[in-house]
Amino acid sequence: MAMIEMKDVAKKYSNGTTALRNLSVNIRQGEFVYVVGPSGAGKSTFIKLMYREEKASKGKINVAGWDLIKVKNRDVPLLRREIGVVFQDYKLLPKKTVYENVAYAMQVIGKKPREIKRRVMEVLDLVGLKHKVRMFPSELSGGEQQRVAIARAIVNTPKVLIADEPTGNLDPENSWEIMNLLERINLQGTTVVMATHNSQIVNTLRHRVLAVENGRIVRDDHEGEYGYDD
Ligand code: ADP
Ligand code: ADP
Repeated sequence: MAMIEMKDVAKKYSNGTTALRNLSVNIRQGEFVYVVGPSGAGKSTFIKLMYREEKASKGKINVAGWDLIKVKNRDVPLLRREIGVVFQDYKLLPKKTVYENVAYAMQVIGKKPREIKRRVMEVLDLVGLKHKVRMFPSELSGGEQQRVAIARAIVNTPKVLIADEPTGNLDPENSWEIMNLLERINLQGTTVVMATHNSQIVNTLRHRVLAVENGRIVRDDHEGEYGYDD
């Protein structure tokens, strides 16, 4: 079954920039996929279409059984339960504690306090931050903040985890820790799509590689290489 399916997708921004052109791809349940390519190639746009942060100008997109062309704005929160997202700059809520940052994602979908408490502690244990539940993001290292962001992204057990340059602000040691986590999450059955400029990671921890250039997929290799010199 395809977890993410795009067919003849194009994206033209309102200022006239064409970011993606006639792009088609199939990603199956449980796959781990790297998205690589030069800056400005369209990687972020490609990823944003998957969680309906941007709308396609043309084509078909289906994610976790949702037709993203037809999905109504009011249903986007429902869709987002099935898709966890992690960003390069973490995007944690600065005035909330670690616990609250993670719990919030469950509160907004109306989960019961008892279930929230159990699940939040479970995912914070998974990312190794159970002992820092009362801290604020500003009191954590970059690597720890990204682990909180991952805990938040998976707390509602999404089918797909999307990560846009998740190690972009981290040193090699913390980057590998984040990769270990994404790897474990993937082994539990979650489909992972990760845009990255980290050639070390792509060339060491081998997975499918989609290379995007000038709004097109120019390479799609099983256990592929990073393939750029940057
Ligand atoms: P990448 O992630 O590979 O760096 P992007 O998807 O961010 O590429 O960008 C692809 C192209 O779309 C670039 O030319 C970029 O300038 C343009 N672009 C990205 N976001 C917007 C936007 N919100 N409005 C207009 N153009 C954009
Ligand atoms: P440094 O900080 O000197 O880059 P690291 O501990 O980050 O050292 O990694 C050293 C090498 O070991 C890396 O180049 C990488 O290839 C490999 N490595 C480290 N952690 C992992 C891991 N979790 N999985 C696979 N390879 C790893």
